[in-house]
This record gives sequence, structure tokens and C-alpha cells, in this order.
Amino acid sequence: RKFIFVTGGVMSGLGKGITAASTGRLLANAGFDVTAVKIDPYLNVDAGTMNPYQHGEVYVLKDGGEVDLDLGNYERFLGVDMTSDHNVTTGKTYQHVIDKERAGDYLGKTVQVIPHVTDDIKRRIREAAEGTDVCIVEIGGTVGDIEGMPYLEALRQFAHEEPDDNVLFTHVTLVPYSKNGEQKTKPTQHSVKELRSIGLQPDIVVGRCDDKLDPATKEKIALFGDVPTDAVFSNPDVEDVYHVPLVVEEEGLDEYVMERLGLAGEALPEGER
Ligand code: ADP
Repeated sequence: RKFIFVTGGVMSGLGKGITAASTGRLLANAGFDVTAVKIDPYLNVDAGTMNPYQHGEVYVLKDGGEVDLDLGNYERFLGVDMTSDHNVTTGKTYQHVIDKERAGDYLGKTVQVIPHVTDDIKRRIREAAEGTDVCIVEIGGTVGDIEGMPYLEALRQFAHEEPDDNVLFTHVTLVPYSKNGEQKTKPTQHSVKELRSIGLQPDIVVGRCDDKLDPATKEKIALFGDVPTDAVFSNPDVEDVYHVPLVVEEEGLDEYVMERLGLAGEALPEGER
């Protein structure tokens, strides 16, 4: 089973979720069974009690789970039904770990973020992915947020435990224009540096920008992010977010992902999907 971990840099609301869902859509088009997990590092157990003015309407799943709107994007982009197990929150994780501690399941051990919370995070990701070919895991928030740290550590361990071609990291970041119309890579450089400082090296960098990234911008991101130039992709502004899969397909994101995960040539022929 393959896992694609999607992190975000610079700021939230960039299009990390849409990029993750688009990657999943392209893999589903190639004939793979794709699911997704959204990690929300907040302490709320679920989105049911959260102010819709702040977070948008609560999305209700078939099993009654009240979750983040992003799960709606995943259901629509991937054409699958998800359950509340596909939305991992710090509230759910800690509640479970603390219940286990009260029940004496840890046999007197000191219960700690590493390994007990990180183990529970890894378990949740593996369980949600069961029965599928590819699981896209989006980590809410931005790299460097305190709340997100246990998740990034769990992903580091997860990647360490899996064969190299089972796990891929995509980092979605902002590429703004300067006043004189230049695409600026400094925010991306800093966010990749932050990611690497916690032991995560991105395999793919996606730059959200008003327009497509220039070749020179891609080369600069590749050099400073230590990724091949053909692993840098654009996610430009589009009128309709359902066009994003087409835009990233144009630059070959799906082919790069399949190649890197050893899925190339595995997809079902067109007629058999
Ligand atoms: P994040 O996961 O980074 O918080 P989302 O994927 O939820 O961001 O997207 C934030 C907002 O930006 C959403 O309203 C989404 O529809 C919009 N958006 C995402 N990608 C694009 C794009 N390429 N062009 C235009 N709007 C986009």
C-alpha cells in the first residue's frame, strides 16, 4: 500500500487540500483505489462543536461523523464515501490514549507523546488505508505549528518503517509575486528548510501561485529544496477548483507520483477501469 503525505508551508488556505485531492483524483483515474485521511491538529474531538463562521459549515459523513469541510472535497474529488476514522484530530487521539491509560493498558509505563501518541497516529493512518491502493494523508495547518509536531514526527517514523517506494511527501507552498512581477521563492525555501529540520525531505514541491511557475522559479526551488526540477509543480489560480486535477496533470504530476511510488505500468488499461 502506498501513502502520500501532504504538508503545507508558509500559510494555510493555500490549496493544500485541493492539491491533495487532485493528486488522488488522477491516481483514481489511472485505476487505483484511493482514499484520504485529513489530519486536523486541533484539540477538538470533531468539528461538530466548531463555529461555522470560523471553519465553514460542518460536513456530515454517512456514519454521522461531523468533520471538517475538507472531507467533502475528498469525497467529491475521489468519488468515495468516508467515515469519521478518515478525520484524525488531536482530540480523538489523546482521548483514546488517555482512556487506555485509565484502563491500565500501558502496564505502568510513563505515557508519552513519543511513542504512545505517535503510535496511535500511525495506527489510525494504517487502519483508514486498509483495503485501498493509495492513501493520501493531508496534515492540516502549516509546518512549524506546535500542534502539528507530533503528527510530523509520526510521519517521519511511518516513512522509516515502510519501504522507500511506499511513501511520498508532497509539500505545498506559496510562491508570491514581488512588486516588480517576479516569482519569489524565499518563502518556499524557508518552509522546506523548516520541514527538513524535523527530518522530513519533500519528494515533490507544489507552488501555489497566481500563474504557472516559470522554469527559472522551478530550478531555484529544486536547488534549494534539494528535489529534482521535474519534481516541482505549479498549482496556479483557476476559476473552478475542479480544474486543478487537469492543470497538475498537464505538468505530469500523476506520472511523477506513479513513477516514484513504483506504480507506473500498474494502472489498469483505460477500458477496464
Ligand atoms: P488548505 O488545505 O491549504 O487550507 P484548501 O485546499 O482548503 O487550502 O483551499 C483553500 C481555498 O482556496 C479554497 O476555497 C479552495 O477552493 C481555493 N483554491 C485551492 N486551490 C485553488 C486554485 N488552484 N485556484 C483557485 N482557488 C483555489
